[in-house]
Amino acid sequence: MTPDGERRADLAIDDERISAIGDVPRASREIDARGKLVLPGCVDLHTHLASTPTFTPLDDFEHGTRAAVAGGVTTVCSMVYQEGSLRAGAERGLRDAARSCADFAFHVVVTDPSPAAIDEVAALAREGHGLKVFMVSPHFVERTADYLDLYRAAAAAGVVVAVHAEDRAVIDRATAQLHAAGRTGAEWFPESRPVQAEIVAVRAALAHAELSGAALYLVHLSSRGALDGLREGKERGARLLGETRPLYLYLTRERFTRPDAALWVGQPPLREREDVEALWAALRDGPLDTVGTDHIPHRRAAKLDPSLTFDTVPPGVANLETLLPMLYSEGVRRGRLTLARLVEVLATVPARIAGLHPRKGVLAPGSDADVVVFDPNARRTIRSSEMHSACDYDPYEGWDVTGWPEVVLSRGEVVFERGTITARPGRGRFVPRGRYGES
Ligand SMILES: [Zn+2]
Repeated sequence: MTPDGERRADLAIDDERISAIGDVPRASREIDARGKLVLPGCVDLHTHLASTPTFTPLDDFEHGTRAAVAGGVTTVCSMVYQEGSLRAGAERGLRDAARSCADFAFHVVVTDPSPAAIDEVAALAREGHGLKVFMVSPHFVERTADYLDLYRAAAAAGVVVAVHAEDRAVIDRATAQLHAAGRTGAEWFPESRPVQAEIVAVRAALAHAELSGAALYLVHLSSRGALDGLREGKERGARLLGETRPLYLYLTRERFTRPDAALWVGQPPLREREDVEALWAALRDGPLDTVGTDHIPHRRAAKLDPSLTFDTVPPGVANLETLLPMLYSEGVRRGRLTLARLVEVLATVPARIAGLHPRKGVLAPGSDADVVVFDPNARRTIRSSEMHSACDYDPYEGWDVTGWPEVVLSRGEVVFERGTITARPGRGRFVPRGRYGES
């Protein structure tokens, strides 16, 4: 699958890059991909593999990127958090990623948009880092004006700002009402974060993008109403970009009627069937741009701890290994997405947004040889015991999937082959992000 479309051809790799597609000379090693699809490695713009001063993720860079490469994801972008300076967060991420199996980049989460932090943006951008803002944080409500200054600095530096768009006030009100009524179990989680919280925040983000000129990448959009805001923003020429997350494409809030509802707690919550349908349509025809995993699993016992309430269950699930095969199985095989569109939303467009294109995200001469040999007929039932995440459950346990990666290469090196990870921890490299829109 090349930028020009689907064709039958050989692909040659010299050292770390693709050297030719078409008629190629014989090589020291040949991989027989007859009957298979040959795709660019996926670029996941949304993971949480780095630590913070108070938190170490279950899937750190080593475990998370083992799951990634086994699933055909060869580049991950992880959140890192400001620690006084923005740079300190990025430096922690670089240290944590020393055992990464996949190539990596970062979004630095800005928790204090101080003048000093805003002054750092230009240098940080030159070093290849992006930014992330949580609109849902109480800080954002108190300091919106400072965040708008941050957005202006990001616009000037050509940095995309990833934005978690949910409204704090709406969530606080719903949460307090549920607690007052004694409704504290995980089954109330969807009600605590109503769809209006997302809609209000997406509308505000649209105004902020227009005011600042910044490109805002709205992560994990979950609802029809949020998509309407994104669509309107794009039509008005605002620099808004939209991501959804696998959970919202496959599951509904019906999961929250189960006794183990907490296993599916992620922010925002699972929505209604009509939202699922709206997301598929938006992935096919726009306005959605990408699918990112928001990979951050927690063990079953940590999610189901009976002392937790709906607002204290640790949010997040594993998704790196299933991202590509499930979107192929549920999207391409079911006729909801073309193969070309799947490659766009999982590889080419995220690489563009991160300023990594055309080094990443396409099969073309000169690009990094990040290549997935994908067996479109491989049948597999998802079992957490067979997944490479350190987590002990999978949100799609028991799901039947058709299509799975057979061989995965990263910069010309085989990192996964027929069920076995061959990547050496630490082989992954930092890939500095470029200015958005100039790749
Ligand atoms: Zn996230």
